[in-house]
Amino acid sequence: MELKTKQKNKKNKAINICLDKNEILTPNRLLILDILLGSEIPISAYDINALIKNKGKNLNISSVYRVIEFWVKLNVVHKISFLNKYMVCDNTDEKHTHITNICTSCLSVIETCNKSMGLDLEESSKKLGVILSPDVNIEIPIICHKCQ
Ligand SMILES: [Zn+2]
Ligand SMILES: [Zn+2]
Repeated sequence: MELKTKQKNKKNKAINICLDKNEILTPNRLLILDILLGSEIPISAYDINALIKNKGKNLNISSVYRVIEFWVKLNVVHKISFLNKYMVCDNTDEKHTHITNICTSCLSVIETCNKSMGLDLEESSKKLGVILSPDVNIEIPIICHKCQ
């Protein structure tokens, strides 16, 4: 599977984040990162497992989940909860709250942040007397340009 330039850059960023946190870049972590980078749309742990099998390798599903969770904790991968699928973050340098706009028709994702969408999440949390939980992406269901 050949990765495009943008994907390669994302991969290098992910590897640097991993090494900066003194984490070990195991073959399985790299393999699953590559599979996620190779997908245009969010994919499930079972999709990942099937793609690993296609490569002639075998990993049990709990190992796949463990590796995915590893990347999610590093904020390299976002979980799309309502689909129970995963995708590589489009911009790991983004310091604002990451917003994943997911097309409910074709599952393509346009990633933005709360600032660029004009959402003052800290202020609205304050009004509720709560604190915004950091490092979790917010999901917004959309219909993309192609599917309108
Ligand atoms: Zn992101
Ligand atoms: Zn669409």
